[in-house]
Parts: sequence; structure tokens; C-alpha cells
Amino acid sequence: MKNIFVVLLLVNQIGFGCIGLAQSGENDANASISVTNYETLKAKINPLDIHSVLLQNEVIGHSVEGKEIVAMKFSNGHFGSDPSKIKVLIFAQQHGNEQSGKEASLLLAEWLLKPENNYLLDRIDLALIPQMNPDGSEINRRRNANNADLNRNHLILSEPETQALHRFFDSFLFEVTLDVHEYSPYGEEWKEYGYRKNTDVAVGSCTNINVSKSIRKRSNKGFLPFVMDQLNKTHFKSFLYCPGGPPENKYIRHSTFDINDGRQSFGILNTFSFIQEGMNGTDMFAENMTFRAEGQKNGMIAMLKYVYESKDAIKKTVQKERNRLISEEAGKPVSIQAKHVANRKKLLLPLFSYATQSDTIVIVNDYRPVVKTITDVSKPLGYLIPKNQPELLSWAERHALSTRTLVLNKTIDIGEYFVNTIDSIDFEGDTVIDPVVVFSSLHKAVNTDDYVFIPTNQLKGNMIVIALEPKSMLGLVTYSTFKDLLKTGEAYPVLRVERK
Ligand SMILES: [Zn+2]
Repeated sequence: MKNIFVVLLLVNQIGFGCIGLAQSGENDANASISVTNYETLKAKINPLDIHSVLLQNEVIGHSVEGKEIVAMKFSNGHFGSDPSKIKVLIFAQQHGNEQSGKEASLLLAEWLLKPENNYLLDRIDLALIPQMNPDGSEINRRRNANNADLNRNHLILSEPETQALHRFFDSFLFEVTLDVHEYSPYGEEWKEYGYRKNTDVAVGSCTNINVSKSIRKRSNKGFLPFVMDQLNKTHFKSFLYCPGGPPENKYIRHSTFDINDGRQSFGILNTFSFIQEGMNGTDMFAENMTFRAEGQKNGMIAMLKYVYESKDAIKKTVQKERNRLISEEAGKPVSIQAKHVANRKKLLLPLFSYATQSDTIVIVNDYRPVVKTITDVSKPLGYLIPKNQPELLSWAERHALSTRTLVLNKTIDIGEYFVNTIDSIDFEGDTVIDPVVVFSSLHKAVNTDDYVFIPTNQLKGNMIVIALEPKSMLGLVTYSTFKDLLKTGEAYPVLRVERK
């Protein structure tokens, strides 16, 4: 109750308290932030830009239905141009029915513009995208207007919303990113189990094992404990992001290792990249919004404080690990099939008991926190994409990959995969294809003019390998758009270029 008044008071102090803030009933205890629609969002963030020298809004793209996707760029200098600063990107509401990230972004913007808080901008340039999926948001729907799940779209980049985000990322190469979501703990399966998750704000880091080890270590040992501690101190229950369960039915893990989401698609570029998930209301909309938005805002603030304190170390690690990607010699292993495995640890999972109506701790026996590789390939010099594959060429363009024509010489070997059969493999409880392929050097001459060469010694090198290897469980061949690339009894059209 007290917190609610504080929020209202602070917002009113800076002069736009009436916009989007509504008291939902007679009773003050129900005072809440209502859900901000698209037009109101614009009406809120445009005046902030006009009135503050610290903020510049940029339209980074448009949704399927033509709505603006806006990045709020906070800087006390010229955004992105001071090499001593660290660049942070927060983006919210890829899923239109997860409204609290957007509301939290508005609260964060107001908070950050207060004189006592904008010291953070001495070291940080922050870009904040309150709403990635305006079309979905307007009808409180998860997917965008093309019925695509944006948070499974970061590898194929078929949607204008994800394309805009990656174009924007590429233009600044943010060192830190945070993808803001909500989770719903109220499923029937959990009800039957007798418990549900009750974490106000869960946080997670990158789990794909191709992401630099030092980035993953600092994330797990430094960032996550710090943010959880800060949240708990502000009386929001925080825990590690751990999908799966209920514990006796399905194993618990620390999220997917797929690179098609907002967190790992940037993580795979050796970005210090995270996800934050607030707990949704039972109605998936406005219920309890003040509390939900405050929790998400506090998570974002904790992230900024950690980055502020650790700026130099993070920058140094990211720089070093990105340089490694750019200059890496071919031959390094890249994991293209992996699985979650247990270690000796049991997970003490905080849950809410339906029976006692209180929080409790459940010991999870089938806990698989470790990602272990099943299949590696050695990183080639690059791949040759046939010019008669327009879908593949346009994919490479959407990712702004460096490409060129390959000049053949005696040190280069070109090989192709032949698809013998197509089996299947378990991927986090789902079944995905697992082709049986045989690789061999091409003995016939290759006219390199018929191909576009994509070298792997670029920032997106690991992503390129994961996308283009035919046996990759995260690869393009697992998407319907590209499924024709794999045909039993035929050669895979993308060629591998290696050093002899
Ligand atoms: Zn989500």
C-alpha cells in the first residue's frame, strides 16, 4: 500500500501522473497502473524526449501493422560515441500479453531522469525499447500480427520487429542486453502437482556453450547473485530463471540453449546478455500491475547498477571475446547438438503450496543445470551459399553478414554433405530432425561465381556455423522455410570451405 502511494507521488511530481495511471476501484488498495496502449505510450515517451537533454527517442522500425518501435536512448553525451562508456540495451514486450515490461520501462525512464539517479549515465549509454510487439500488445496476444512468436525468430529474422531490433543492435554493438518477459505459473499441470512458482522476478543468463566461458562465468557468479540480492532487498522474491517441471513430471533446467531468442541471439555474439521474467497476473493482463511493473523496474535498476560498478571488467571481457570471434582461426569446435545433464547438485526450488497457501521449498531431484555437447563440428573458413537459394541469401542479408566471392587457391578445400537419412533427436522434450550426413571433399570443380562466400571470421561466426550446419539442432534446416535444404539421398546445397 505504501509503495503504491510512493509510485503515484513520484510520477505526479514530474508532471504526467494522469497519463495511464488509473485507480481501478473505490478502494485505494486497488490503486494500480493501468495497461498503457500504443497511443498512450507514444504520448508518454515523446514529452520525455522533448523535456530532457538526456534522452533522444529513435524509431528503429515498424511492426507488421505499421506501428512504430521506439528506442529511448539515454546518454549524458552523444549516444554511443564515447568509447569509455558501456552500451546497454533493454528491450521489453516481445510477447504482447506480457505487459509489465512495458510499464516497467516507463517507470524506469522516469526514475532514470531524476537528478539523483542519472549518475548512472556517467558510465552507461542506455537504449530502452519499452515495446517490441505493439500489434500483439494492443490485443494482449503473445504473437505478432503475422502470428509469429518473436522470441523464436531471432535466428531466421523473418519478422519486421526482430529485424529492427537486430539492425539497431548491429549499429551500436551493445555490450550488455536484457530481454524482459513475464511467465505464467498458473497452469493446470502445476495445480495438479499442488504447487506453483511464486518468484516475482526471475533472472537468467546465457546457457549456450558456444558463448564465451568467461562471459558465462561472470554472469552466473557475479551478475545473477547481485540482481537477485537487490530484488530481495526491495522485497521482490527473486530466483533463477528455471523452466521445466513440475518437478516430478519433467526435469528442471536453466532455460533453452537455443539461439533463436532475444537473450542468446545476442549472447552468441559474446554479449553480456540476460533475460528477466516477471510473474504474470492470473488474467494475463492488468491484474496487480503496479506490483508487477515495480518488480520488473527494480530488476532493470539492479542490472544497471551492476553494470555501472563493473563497467571496465565487462567491457574488457566483451571486447576480448568479440575480438576472438573476429580473428579466430578455423578449426575451433562449435557445438551444434547438446543436451541438459545433471551434476551432483539438487535444486532447492521456491514454490507456493496450494494446500497451505504459503511459500515453501521443494527439493528437485531431476535437476539438469549443465549443458553438455553431443556433436561438435570444427569451424570452417566459411560456407558457400548457391546464388540460386534466394531465401538463404536474404537471410544472410537480414543478419548483415560479411560476404564476398571466394578466390580459390591451393590451400583451400571445398566439401559437401550428402544426406543419407533423416533421423530425429530429443531437444528439450521436443523432437527435431537429426540427419545422417556424410562429408567429403568435392572432386568436381566449383565455379565460385555461382556462390556467395560467408567467412566465419566475423562477429557472427559461431551463429553462422550453428545456422548453416545441416546437423545443427538449432540450425536453419529445423525451420519450415528452410526444410527443403535437406533431402534424403541428395547433397546439402551449402558447401563447407576448409583449409587443406
Ligand atoms: Zn515472453
